[in-house]
Formats: sequence, C-alpha cells, structure tokens
Amino acid sequence: MSKWVYFFGDGQAEGRADMKNLLGGKGANLAEMSSLGVPVPAGFTITTEVCTYYYENGETYPADLKQQVMDSLKQIESIMGAKFGDPDNPLLVSVRSGARTSMPGMMDTVLNLGLNDTTVQGLIKLSGDARFAYDSYRRFVTMYSDVVLGVDHYHFEEILESLKEDKGYTLDTEVTAEDWKHLVGVYKAKVLEQLGTPFPEDPVEQMWGSIGAVFGSWMNQRAKTYRRLHHIPGHWGTAVNVQAMVFGNMGDDSATGVCFSRDPSTGENAFYGEYLVNAQGEDVVAGIRTPQNISIAGKEKNNSDLPAMEETMPVIYKELVAIRDRLEVHYKDMQDMEFTIQKNKLWMLQTRNGKRTAAAALKIAVDMCNEGLIDKETAILRVAPEHLDQLLHPTLDPKAPRDLLAHGLPASPGAASGQVVFTADEAEAWAQKGKKVVLVRVETSPEDIGGMHVSQGILTTRGGMTSHAAVVARGMGVPCVAGAGEIRVDYRAKTLTVGDRVVKEGDIITLDGAKGDVFLGEVPTLQPELSGDFADLMLWADKVRRMKVRANAETAEDCGTARKFGAEGVGLCRTEHMFFDPKRIIHIRQMILAEDEAGRRAALEHLLPYQRQDFVEVFTIMQGLPVTIRLLDPPLHEFLPHSENEIADVAASAGVDAATVKSRVAMLQEANPMLGHRGCRLGITYPEVYEMQARAIFEAALEVSEASGETVLPEIMIPLVGSVKELEPMRALVDRVAEETFTAKGQRIEYHVGTMIELPRACLQAAQIAEHAEFFSFGTNDLTQTTLGMSRDDSGPFLEVYAQKGIYPRDPFQSIDVDGVGEMVQIAAERGRKTRPDIKLGICGEHGGDPDSIHFCETVDLNYVSCSPYRVPIARLAAAQSVLLKGKEAEKDR
Ligand code: ADP
Ligand code: MG
Ligand code: MG
Repeated sequence: MSKWVYFFGDGQAEGRADMKNLLGGKGANLAEMSSLGVPVPAGFTITTEVCTYYYENGETYPADLKQQVMDSLKQIESIMGAKFGDPDNPLLVSVRSGARTSMPGMMDTVLNLGLNDTTVQGLIKLSGDARFAYDSYRRFVTMYSDVVLGVDHYHFEEILESLKEDKGYTLDTEVTAEDWKHLVGVYKAKVLEQLGTPFPEDPVEQMWGSIGAVFGSWMNQRAKTYRRLHHIPGHWGTAVNVQAMVFGNMGDDSATGVCFSRDPSTGENAFYGEYLVNAQGEDVVAGIRTPQNISIAGKEKNNSDLPAMEETMPVIYKELVAIRDRLEVHYKDMQDMEFTIQKNKLWMLQTRNGKRTAAAALKIAVDMCNEGLIDKETAILRVAPEHLDQLLHPTLDPKAPRDLLAHGLPASPGAASGQVVFTADEAEAWAQKGKKVVLVRVETSPEDIGGMHVSQGILTTRGGMTSHAAVVARGMGVPCVAGAGEIRVDYRAKTLTVGDRVVKEGDIITLDGAKGDVFLGEVPTLQPELSGDFADLMLWADKVRRMKVRANAETAEDCGTARKFGAEGVGLCRTEHMFFDPKRIIHIRQMILAEDEAGRRAALEHLLPYQRQDFVEVFTIMQGLPVTIRLLDPPLHEFLPHSENEIADVAASAGVDAATVKSRVAMLQEANPMLGHRGCRLGITYPEVYEMQARAIFEAALEVSEASGETVLPEIMIPLVGSVKELEPMRALVDRVAEETFTAKGQRIEYHVGTMIELPRACLQAAQIAEHAEFFSFGTNDLTQTTLGMSRDDSGPFLEVYAQKGIYPRDPFQSIDVDGVGEMVQIAAERGRKTRPDIKLGICGEHGGDPDSIHFCETVDLNYVSCSPYRVPIARLAAAQSVLLKGKEAEKDR
C-alpha cells in the first residue's frame, strides 16, 4: 500500500522539512514546525505523487487515498476536540495548495470549509458571535463558489454592493450578522441559478471538491505562466494541505499577519512584519486595509501612526520573537512566516525561506556567515547570481533635479523610468514594441505577472510591503513603489492624479523603489558602489572558483568597466565595432568597393593608424591581462552605404561615379549573409585585411609594452573556421606579420593565435584545427544558430511556443542548449585537448554571462568564460557556485 497522506499536529509529524519534493514546501515545513513544538493547527498533507497520479489517470485518485484522508481527518478531530460536520462542535478546515517551491498566489486555497446551515449554528454557539460565524460562512461560500464551482467573484460582490447601497452602508464592518446571514442565502441562490445545482452542504463533499480544485489549479493559466517564467517543471505537481482552521477574525483579541525574521528589503537583522486585527487569511496580502507593523522599530521606520503589536499584544509579540529566533537558527536562513492569533493564542500557519531583494540576499548571506550560522560556501550559494544584477543597477543621481509627485512604500529597490501604462496587457503590448513602461495599478493580482515582468517599474496605490505587487516585484528584481495612497488611478480615463496634477498614459515617470518615491519625468541615474558586503562575497567566490572570468569589450569605457567589475582579461574584442565610427567608415567602404587588391591596400593604409590606436587604448587599460582580439567577422555589406547621400560621398572619395558604387553594392548583397561571405572567408579572399589588422595589433602591443614596461598579451582569434585548411594559412599570415613587425621594431613579445569555434564542422574537426590553434573560444551564439539551424533574429515568435510546449524549455540563445550545443562543445573540447593537452578553452557570447551555461562550462572544464562587462560579477559568483555544485553532485554519485 502506498502512503499518500502525511499527518502533522500536536508536537508531532510524519513528514520532515527535507521532504519538499513529496509534501511540497508548505506541507514539509508545517510538519517540521509541528515536530519542533511550534504551535501549528493539526492537519495533513496529500502528496505531490497524488497530483501526478491525478493527471496521469484522467483526473482520478488512487483507490486507497480516500481511506487515508478520512483516517487523518479523524486524527485532526481528536487533537482539536471537534468534529467535521458536527452541529454543536464543528471542525472547520482550510484546503491549501503547496508546491515544492513557493508560487505565491498562483494556486487556490479554500478557508472555513465545513460550514453549512447546520454547522454555522455550532460555530455561533462556540464563539458566542453570530456576526463572526456568518462572516466566515459567506467568505466560505464565495471562495468555494469561485475556486471550486467556477462562479466568478463579481457575482457576489455585486450582491454585497447592492445590499450596502440599500442599507446605506459604506464599510463592510457595518454589515450585521443578520445581513450576512441573508447574503449567504442570496449567494447560494445565485450559485443554483448559475449552475443549476445547489451549493454542496455536505462537508465531506466540500472537502473533496476543494482537493480537486487545488490539484486542478496546478494547471491553471497563471500557474503555468509562473512556472514558465521561473523554470519550474510541470511534472513536479502540487501537494494539498488540509488543516484545522484557526480564526484571526474572532474579535479585537484576534489577528492575522505575515513576518520575516530579517528585513527582506535591506537584509538588516531586524524582525519585520505586518498584521491586521480581526482579519482572516488573505486580507493582509490583498492590501484591502492598511496593515500595522509588528515591531515599534518597524512602525517608526514606516512612519505609521497605527500601534505596533509590540505595544498592543506584548506577550504574544514575545512569543512570536522566540519562534522567529528558533526557526531561523533551525533553518539557518531568513524565514517568511504566516501567523494567526485566535483569542490571544498564537498559531503558526507557514514558514519558508523568505524571498528577498538582492541587497538583502547579499547582506543576509554575509551576516549569517559572520555570525557563524552558515559557512562561506553556503553564503556563496545563497546569493542568486542573476540577482546581483539589481545591485549593479543604477540609483537616482542625488544631484539631478527632480519633481516629486507622490510617495509610497519602498517595496523593491532600484531606480527606473518609463511611460505610464495602466494594465498588464498594455505593458506587454508596449514592451513588445520596444517601449519602456512603468505599470501603474491600484493593486496587482497574479494575473498581472506577465505585464509586471516586462515593466521597468511597478507602482501601486494600495497595499503594504507584503502585498502581491511588492513580493512579486522583489522576486523579479523590478523596482516597485507600493501603497502610494495619495495617487488616484482612473482606469477608464487612463490617468493618475495627485491633487490637481494629472499624468496620462504614455507620460514618463521615475520610481525610486529603494525610497518609495515617484517623480514626474525622467531622473538621471548613477552607478552603484561595489564595496562592503559585495566585495567580501566576491572575494570568497574568487577563492572558490576555478574558471577565469573575462569580458567582451572593445571600447576604453567597456574595458574600464570590465576591470572595475573584476574581469581577468578580454575574451572577445570585436574589431569591426571600431569601424562604424563615421571617420573610418568611409575608408572601410572604399576598401570594400575597391576593384582590386591595390585599391583595397590603399584604403587599408588609412585604417591602420585608427585600428592601432584602438588597440593601444585597450592594451593600456588591460595591462598584464590577456586580450583576445577577433579579426574581421561580419559580412561586408553591413558597412555598405544605403542612402543616396552616403553613396554619393563614397563615390566622390573613391573617385568613381555613383552608378559604379550602386552596382558594386548590388553585387555584394547576399541572400543569407549569416552563412555568407564573412568570418575567415574574408581573410582567405582578402588576406590584406587581416594583414592590416594583425599589423595594427602587433604595433600597438609593442608600443604599449615599451611605454609601460608591462606585459601585453595579445591573443589573435580567427573567426568562423570550419576547416584546418582555413586556419593554417591565416595563422601563417599572422605569424609572418608578427615576425615582420618584431624585426622592424627590434623587439618581441609573446602572443597566441587561436580560433573561434562556432560551426559544427569545427567541433568535429577540432583535433585537426587544434594543431594550429593555441586556444579555442566557443562562439556559442553562432554555434547555437548553426547547430539548431535557427536564426537568433527570427526565432523569437516560435521559440515562445516551443517554450510553452516544453520543446526547448529555455531560450537556447539565453541559456546553452546542453543536449545539442553542449555536446558540440564537449566534442570539440575533448578532441582539441587530445591534440594539444594545454589548449586554452573559453566561451564568449551571451552564454558566458548566464549562470546555468556557466555551470555547464564548469562541467566540461573550460578555462574561462567571457561576458559583457556588467555581467562579470554575476559570472564570478556563478563560476564559484558551479565548483561547489559540481562537488555536491560528485558527492551524491559516490
Ligand atoms: P498561499 O500559498 O497563497 O499563501 P495559503 O495556503 O498560505 O495560500 O493560505 C492563504 C491564507 O489563508 C494565508 O494567509 C494563510 O495564513 C491563511 N490560512 C490558511 N490556512 C489557514 C488555517 N487553517 N487557519 C487560518 N488561516 C489559514
Ligand atoms: Mg501562504
Ligand atoms: Mg560568430
């Protein structure tokens, strides 16, 4: 017999924290807390295996599930001293979803389950509060109808609104017990009208309905979208938790809240949380009422005039602090906890490792290591490399003029400007057109995540630091200002107003998510400081990592940024970028349009000094570090004149007529330039081009090494090689130019010649190619295009469909396609090393800055990765994590 159900409660549990795959995160941690003796309402978890079974067997359950559920329900009854469906002493439960990793708000939960016209009488007797009982009942009927029966929420809202209007109420708190009772009847009639079947009165039927709905919600659209954005596989499934209800809405000695063991925004070691008195469940997260802070410090920090729990409920506050300390030491990580107070008794309803901003992740990891709670390796693994991006992001220039529009909560740090849009759909549509948008909402809901993802920033007018917008934005690293209450949003008019100031859709605003400020117009930004915790963690990472990290850079500015971020060389210096300068393009055009070698040489003579000067700058900044320079790579037509004016200019400077230029331009057009006359094919057909470039490199290297006395380490890279017969003559050419230059200047330096590996043929021929190449640099952008037969510029639309269908779950241009391109890399690495054991192997291209791809590079023992300057710190951390993860995997295999 399989075990499908795990019980927890009363200081015991069948599950454990490390059973997340089976019990989901919520279930595993409820079990763990229960075993630790933390007060948790009794309950049980139906495993994720049941979810898998459910979908593999036409949405049915294993035969023995029913008995196991009913047995566990009995156990809850005996611990809670109440009976499910009992008219005098009814047990009520919640039915909660819970996947391996938390998917906040993505799946469904039903509260107050077990209520019907009979049991509600029992609840009245037990609580002595008819209003509370009927309030709970109507919440249940609406939630159940919405989640399980598919009768939309708005039906019930309309009914409630019209009752309030009839009675002249403005607030829900004015609604009486009798009113709620009446409404429950009307709600049920609505359900009957909508479905043709009555609302289920039988608690057991209600429970199974809810369990089915939670499993069903695993496949709802928003959960699917969330999984796609967070790379969560669909086959994991969700668990279902059935748990005895505790009530935060039983009066002013009851409350419900959310708290973090450390500040999730800054990482400061300060207990942080929010709660609402006389409220239930989602009320805090929904942002309907403004929550109170739990601590006095938090209240002061947020300038709140509402009293803190520390003041109003000091005993419970102390108990909560003790649990916070206990759980943090136990889990050795920052905890995000849900709690409810029922008539002055504290209950914990959830704990998990809290989501945090990048700044907080960094501070918490470094602090916990310094506190001795975790070791350095754990600290390194605690910070998501992608997350560092946020820290490297700009902040507002304090000296820049600004026009403050409004103030809200500092929900997610970072500064961002963009055009105002008012719906998530608009955000997506505008972003698709390449516009930068700021999404402005009264509050956000899980349906909005697509639009939130593409926005530069998010602004809400309602909700606290733990509102949906705040939590999701922090997770995505998008700057967010939440709860800016002075702003009024008019969705219909597409405007937001603050006093008499009106901002229309499309107007630009700037958010400072670290301060909570909203500005009109665009405010300039500044680059961040890279000292303190950041420097400490980077240092720890550098000690652990094996692979070097280089940058793709060709300008002095990029090289400077790269060094500042700790790059250990240039992995890709693209020489053609230097040609687009207006002063030079004319010579390039002359060179391309020349009829013969003599004409080309004449044009190249003009280019040589420019090119040499470029290299002098790069070598000067990168002194002592290797610089890989790729000789001319793109198809020549990229440099060609297009407009009549440009054509006339070129014609004049080349001393020919416009018609000649035009016909030459037409001749150079290619049907498929990506696979055309480019890369080393240019060097083969026009050797004088590569000759000029090699000369510029060697002359610059000699100049800088003589001037500075430091080593200059040029590595000359021949692009797009597919055959050793291409590389051999190109290498001979470079060696010859080197000798000529050294002889002429009477000075020698060390240099290397290698090739870019970006064609499948090159991977297969790597053994032969390595005879003439001292290094390989995997150009995985082109290697992905050529291996998959997919153009990067044209694949966007269908790759989205492919991702949805799980064909290529990740965009292969963002994260390396391990099975295909990865195997190509592996073949080339093996064959290349066989010929030349000390061959240096690296990767350039977008993948060099992608943590998962970097992890792959570690597994095939590359010597370095190279990425854009801003991603260098990300790559340094990812490379360190790769070493640690590889070690862990090896341990597991043993
Ligand atoms: P989510 O995963 O979306 O956070 P939860 O299952 O945690 O959903 O439940 C939503 C809300 O209902 C939370 O605020 C939670 O604390 C509350 N809740 C869930 N179960 C109970 C219960 N047994 N008693 C009281 N409140 C509950
Ligand atoms: Mg929760
Ligand atoms: Mg290429």
